[in-house]
Amino acid sequence: MKIGILGAGQLGRMLALAGYPLDFDFVFLDPATEACAAPLGTHIHAGFDDEQALREFCVSVDVATFEFENVAGSSAEFVARRVPLYPPPLALTAGQDRLHEKQLFVQLGIPVPAHAAVGSLEGLKAAVGHIGLPAVLKTRRMGYDGKGQAVLRTTADVEAAWLKLGSQPLILEQFVPFEREVSCLAVRGKGGELRCYPLVENVHRDGILRTAIPTVADPLQTEGEDYARRVAEHLDYVGVLAFEFFVAGGKLFANEIAPRVHNSGHWSIEGAECSQFENHLRAIAGLPLGSTALRGPSAMVNLIGAAPAVAELVDLPGVHVHMYGKTPKPQRKIGHLTVTATDRASLLARLAPVQALVERYAS
Ligand code: AMP
Repeated sequence: MKIGILGAGQLGRMLALAGYPLDFDFVFLDPATEACAAPLGTHIHAGFDDEQALREFCVSVDVATFEFENVAGSSAEFVARRVPLYPPPLALTAGQDRLHEKQLFVQLGIPVPAHAAVGSLEGLKAAVGHIGLPAVLKTRRMGYDGKGQAVLRTTADVEAAWLKLGSQPLILEQFVPFEREVSCLAVRGKGGELRCYPLVENVHRDGILRTAIPTVADPLQTEGEDYARRVAEHLDYVGVLAFEFFVAGGKLFANEIAPRVHNSGHWSIEGAECSQFENHLRAIAGLPLGSTALRGPSAMVNLIGAAPAVAELVDLPGVHVHMYGKTPKPQRKIGHLTVTATDRASLLARLAPVQALVERYAS
């Protein structure tokens, strides 16, 4: 079966690496010259809105998906009219605007941080009066990895944040004093079956994910799965859906969804019976879903900006190296490590020096 993927970054690369053993082939469409999934399939080098290229993409695949969530809804519709596209275009666009995304959560009865749409400096001041400080001002569209955001701590920050971001539609959110951040990775098959991985505890710095550790018997597992199910069923979702939450006062507050495989699920390559990448492919290809159970303790550490030499990394006990073939650049995710161990205490003992080593190189 030929799988078409819109986007050819590291998520596409890891989808292909999971797919070849199942006898899948891959076609990628991506405008980037350095598209790190390109060596793993046919690369159509064109913009996501290039109709000629999208036509060529559609005729060469049996089923299509995406690994980049900012593909325009019109391009997704164009593809979906010609070839089965999973998740469906509505699932793609549902998360593209942070305000509409929050409205969807509210509609589905999922708790969200206090927030308000902002379209002017006066509107921002009014929203600050209503929501209070600290607060986070974000662009409604195209933000990722903490980009397009400003934290407002005092009223003196308001005008600077407006000058930085005010040329686009914005949303102001209450700054959630979270105890931790978790994500729920769910996979939904074509027949509606839904499976969730154990909730993952995520640590971010400068808005970028640094470490992700799957939890064991987390008290919020059922709540997270319930919220993921509400969204997945509402969107008639097929594939892997990532749902990010803040935990405050022991309860979940929805931050955002990503309609794709997700960085907080990379540990599942070694740490779960069936990885998020294989499960996404199984779902969109109509195969039975794989088990989301843990194989054992694991943790994921992102390599950001720069990394130690592979020769040094592969020599560390329990460390599995995934380099993405990307040119190192500050703030760029260039690879990740999965650390595994036989029990949680040994995992944490292995993880600490790995994190310290990786942090020395991160930029
Ligand atoms: P986002 O792009 O919205 O996922 O934001 C990136 C990271 O910034 C999150 O994972 C949090 O660590 C932090 N962050 C974003 N929004 C908030 C908020 N409303 N309150 C506290 N921290 C936030």
